[in-house]
Amino acid sequence: MSTKEMYRSLGIREEIYELGEKVLLELKPRFEKIDETAEYNQLKIINAFHKERVSEACLYGTKGYGYNDLGRDTLERVYADVFKTEDALVRPQITCGTHALALALMSNLRPGDELLSAAGKPYDTLEEVIGIRESRGSLKEYGISYAQADLKSDGSFDFDSIREKINERTKLVTIQRSKGYQTRRSFGVRDIAEAIGFIRSIKPEVKIMIDNCYGEFVEREEPSEYGADMVVGSLIKNPGGGLAPIGGYICGTKECVENAAYRLTSPGLGKEVGASLGILPEFYQGLFLSPVITAAALKGAIFAANIYERLGFDVLPDGKEERHDIIQAVTFNKAEALISFCRGIQAAAPVDSFVTPEPWDMPGYDSKVIMAAGNFVSGSSIELSADGPLKPPYSVYFQGGLTFPHVKYGILNSVEYLMRESGQSITLPD
Ligand SMILES: *Cc1c(COP(=O)(O)O)cnc(C)c1O
Repeated sequence: MSTKEMYRSLGIREEIYELGEKVLLELKPRFEKIDETAEYNQLKIINAFHKERVSEACLYGTKGYGYNDLGRDTLERVYADVFKTEDALVRPQITCGTHALALALMSNLRPGDELLSAAGKPYDTLEEVIGIRESRGSLKEYGISYAQADLKSDGSFDFDSIREKINERTKLVTIQRSKGYQTRRSFGVRDIAEAIGFIRSIKPEVKIMIDNCYGEFVEREEPSEYGADMVVGSLIKNPGGGLAPIGGYICGTKECVENAAYRLTSPGLGKEVGASLGILPEFYQGLFLSPVITAAALKGAIFAANIYERLGFDVLPDGKEERHDIIQAVTFNKAEALISFCRGIQAAAPVDSFVTPEPWDMPGYDSKVIMAAGNFVSGSSIELSADGPLKPPYSVYFQGGLTFPHVKYGILNSVEYLMRESGQSITLPD
């Protein structure tokens, strides 16, 4: 059977397959660049494994208090090497990205301090952490205030506003690298480096934290190489390589990481406790695979952008521009089309492919949300996944994919569903 016939047997009509081939041909040079970045980052990671002498004994893990957990402590040194920081906290006890970010903030701020977001509105879930939306246990409840320097209308940093908002109480400045589920652009490491330099020129001693979610290994460098005190992220995104079943990381200065460790466990105990249980093989192997997994997701996002651009939809980033994270937005302007897209992605999943996603009232959102996620790890967004709020302009946010062939099939299937189900008329370009 030919590959085309394989697609046919999976329900992808020939014109859609041909469209995919055509788009792919043009993307070849770009994909080569992505492979070069993956190669560079793979070497960076293997170098850290060698330097820290990762051994079979590192894969065993501990129970109970977890004193002298060789594998855990070595993994944290590997992360510190990879992100070029003094120290790192990488734990299964950090439950998700929001938890890692909340931990970094709560442990490095004290009552009376002010937090400044230099990149406008932060990720949705942080609104409750900060207290922008009232919430129990927020920074606000502990007497930590918040200021925000909005981005300029072109999405770039507003340096005048940042200067204006930094005051004698400003203790920590946060910058979100990825757009997350906003319509702004994501920042490149170079953009962030410039912002860090500017902030330091105004207040040298202020702590700078980068929300690094979805950005890891997309470029050759990380923001921690340009003077950020902390880079923070989730292990069920890029650096977990699809294998980590839980976890978050904080890489940064010794002081910042220690503060976080004392908050995660307890004053006096810090990094010394926290059994790794049986989880270390997945953490090590996931990090090891992460550069090529991230490359697959990145290629998938670019493929999706180019396919949907040709079909006449608005896409962000567009098909040509440089990438700084793995998220792709497509705007449908029609609820039915958004739903069909998600159903096509779900039907291509390795797990629960037979399930039909329905829009539902998700906590924390002001409209119904539809999600496609047939994942090995629940909620993992380094795996092929998509979601979108059921409100104008009916945009879907699509990300992940552990292998490029799988993302390719997922995207072609989404086009198939769109044509078949939504009544959307699509003319395939010749
Ligand atoms: C995913 C994400 C978070 C939160 O991570 P969760 O694991 O979903 O809690 C925070 N910031 C950004 C930019 C993200 O993409």
